[in-house]
Amino acid sequence: MKIEIDNNSGFCFGVDAAVRKVEEVLQRQGTLYCLGDIVHNEEEVKRLSEMGLITIDHDRYFTMNDTTVLLRAHGEPPSTYEYARRNNIELIDATCPIVLKLQKRIHASHQAIKDSSGQVIIYGKKGHAEVNGLVGQTQGEALVIENFDGIDQVDFSRPIELYSQTTKDLVGFHKLADELKVRAVHTPVKIHDTVCRQVSNRIPGIREFAARYSLIIFISGQKSSNGKLLFEICQSVNSNSKFLSSIEEIDPVWFENIDSVGVCGATSTPKKMLEDVAEAIRRWVI
Ligand code: SF4
Repeated sequence: MKIEIDNNSGFCFGVDAAVRKVEEVLQRQGTLYCLGDIVHNEEEVKRLSEMGLITIDHDRYFTMNDTTVLLRAHGEPPSTYEYARRNNIELIDATCPIVLKLQKRIHASHQAIKDSSGQVIIYGKKGHAEVNGLVGQTQGEALVIENFDGIDQVDFSRPIELYSQTTKDLVGFHKLADELKVRAVHTPVKIHDTVCRQVSNRIPGIREFAARYSLIIFISGQKSSNGKLLFEICQSVNSNSKFLSSIEEIDPVWFENIDSVGVCGATSTPKKMLEDVAEAIRRWVI
């Protein structure tokens, strides 16, 4: 049986840099607090916690002082930085440079259009860590739209600037942008395509990869937005696609009467995990 790993899967550079930063600090000082899961991948969080990483939530963060906390690639709103300044918390900022740039752009847009009662709209998932960081740039005023149906919440009498969470799909973004332009007859609309190409560029490759095998094993954390998106692409071209978050979920029944397996995953799935899964399959079937 042929078992192959998708060469383009594995961490994107933003997640890779954040994880390397954690490993580097842990080697130096043994323990480190991280605000939220370092990646949306339970296995990787477990591996790093065994090395000394302590994941804290925002409730706990806002009670802390005199310590060091790492900010993950998703980024944080200004209130997190402000609290650190007032409470002697040293921040190790592993926010992805692409997200940092997006935060600055949204902040600038909000400042520029608020006097003309303009509205910043973010195409993204409500409550997602990156989106919370982006909404924070607008003092909580940005409107978050999760999908096309959310367009009905837009006030078309006010100027509009549209941005996207980095991991949303390009097709959905452009569909929304086109409709905003159609409906906003008397108001200016500025479209900022801020979908990260680290995710969107993987779509054609993973579509082609998934179609080549009789079975696709897609590995991702349950909370990963891009994992959900990339798995849907796999399913759209190969109905025999399985989503799993750990090796233990593999079911040997899947490998009956098939001759090839493709292993791939999200931008938050480490390459090592793909290799471990491929190795486990080899042990079962060969
Ligand atoms: S998907 Fe893009 S924006 Fe998000 S962490 Fe990775 S490189 Fe950065």
